Amino acid sequence: MIMKNKIAVEEHFGIPETLGLLEKAFDPGYWPVFSGKIRDIADFRLEEMNRFGIEKMVLSLNSPGIQAIYDTKEAIAVAKKANDFLAEVIAKYPDRFLGYAAIPLQDIDEALKEMHRAVHELGFVGANINGYVQIDSFDNYKYLDDAVFRPFWAEAEKLDAPVYLHPRDPMPGAFRAIDGHPWLGSATWAFGVETASHALRLLSSGIFDEYPNAKLILGHLGEALPFCVWRAQNHIAKKPLGIPAKRPLMEYMQRNVWFATSCQFRTAPLWNTIMEFGSDRILFAVDYPYENIDEGCEWFDHCSISESDRNKIGRENAIRLFRLEGRGPCSV
Ligand code: ZN
Repeated sequence: MIMKNKIAVEEHFGIPETLGLLEKAFDPGYWPVFSGKIRDIADFRLEEMNRFGIEKMVLSLNSPGIQAIYDTKEAIAVAKKANDFLAEVIAKYPDRFLGYAAIPLQDIDEALKEMHRAVHELGFVGANINGYVQIDSFDNYKYLDDAVFRPFWAEAEKLDAPVYLHPRDPMPGAFRAIDGHPWLGSATWAFGVETASHALRLLSSGIFDEYPNAKLILGHLGEALPFCVWRAQNHIAKKPLGIPAKRPLMEYMQRNVWFATSCQFRTAPLWNTIMEFGSDRILFAVDYPYENIDEGCEWFDHCSISESDRNKIGRENAIRLFRLEGRGPCSV
């Protein structure tokens, strides 16, 4: 049986301005196929969605996207262009696609304006940030717990717009444990370590004390944090070392964080996440076109969970989180 009306929450599109950086990370033989898939909206993508029961995709710009454009003017212009492109896609297929805003955090005032425009004028459901933000030069970069970004969290809370923290590779030279082991880079291992560390910075920064209703989404079943965070919290309780957060990390995970299944088509880690945080906090995602729609859907539609949990994770939790009631279902 196929679950027919799934909502997939970490799916990507690309525009020429942001695909150039991505191309360098790809096998040149596979790039033409991949770049065709990430730019396609209405052909193969929609066919696959229909075939495997994805009613809606929530789309975000390819990583590292705007966060790697350290020329501030260019970051602002490309973010607007990407958001306008995505708004056109959604206008054309309003029952099939939703959007996360690309945000030029290199200029906090412009970032807030674009966030506001994306949610209020373009109807986007949240923001997607691809890890740390490079600002003014390649080597100058900041994580989202930095004081300069507090107004962004304030605005996200005010707009009730979830923030998707999407992976990107660590800065060159910043993860020496895998030097000389290129096969451990990117989605194999480096993305997860980088993004889980970034998420731990956010959880321990006090941001969720200051903005208790801010919402964070982590892909890849929480970048392994559901398995590890108790240990981190337990150690911090014994040795706080000046951590700014007022509450145990698990409390923020329970209150402020949602977890998507992107790229983790494996039932035991899903059970672990359900056992720690409950099936109300988990969202179905494929991570298309980095992963295949058939593989993600076939696993999810048949994995050993209750039908009630499958409906929540596959659809209902996304409707509640993104407040999609009244936008109307469509028949696939
Ligand atoms: Zn992704």
